[in-house]
Amino acid sequence: MNVIINKNKFIKIKQNASDIWSFFLDLIFPIECLGCGREGQWLCQTCFKKINLKAEQYCLHCKRGNDFGEFCSLCRVNYDLTGVWIASLYENKLISKAIKSLKYYFASSLADDLGKLLIFFVNNLINQGRILKPDLKAGVGWQGLNRAENLPLAILDFKANLIIPVPLAKKRWRWRGFNQAEILGKIFAGYYGLEINACDLVRIKHKKPQVKLTEKNRLSNLKDCFVWRGGSLNKRNIILLDDVVTTGATLNECARVLRANGAGEVWGLVVAKG
Ligand SMILES: [Zn+2]
Ligand SMILES: [Zn+2]
Repeated sequence: MNVIINKNKFIKIKQNASDIWSFFLDLIFPIECLGCGREGQWLCQTCFKKINLKAEQYCLHCKRGNDFGEFCSLCRVNYDLTGVWIASLYENKLISKAIKSLKYYFASSLADDLGKLLIFFVNNLINQGRILKPDLKAGVGWQGLNRAENLPLAILDFKANLIIPVPLAKKRWRWRGFNQAEILGKIFAGYYGLEINACDLVRIKHKKPQVKLTEKNRLSNLKDCFVWRGGSLNKRNIILLDDVVTTGATLNECARVLRANGAGEVWGLVVAKG
């Protein structure tokens, strides 16, 4: 008799299994590093260190490079989103495998790794924005002041940001059992001690999968998909967390809703650009 065993299905079972059951499943399907195949971890230390962080940020619309991934003065008019921080590229095989495995096998240790990646990346961004050598006796120099003037408020006053994970539709949430953006958001917010709100931005419908649509249709497909059920955001700067960005249509639609409810700057922060 031929028994076809679906490894993916088993891994999904494994995430919900009791310790004894998962001990047996481990014997049959040991977890292997997505990079080198070594047993024991989804992503080993050696492979994790090989992942390159994206050094240059740019205007997501026209791809012109800049320091903080903000939309440039020409493209800004088309967006409610202030800009997008992109930690790495989806074309990096290890990144795309890690994101897929997190989503479909709920490999929670991968969430820790991808969360760590976001933290390393944002530490770099903040360091880049720091006003260099502030000398209190001499006061902040003109150079420092000029620099501060051009910094995004979300970087200048980083600790005041509110983290909001991009929500899943209820149906999809039920199917998957968790929202990967929320897990990443909790890791990220926990590290910096930032406030997180994972319940008041709600996705009320999920239409056709965005991947199959053109950019123009993506926007109309998303219209009225999100609602904000919290109070006024009182100019609060917001960081929207998601795993992947492509055109930015989803992030921008969230930003539109948040800004309509009084948000200040709304930034996207994603693990990868697809
Ligand atoms: Zn490895
Ligand atoms: Zn631009």
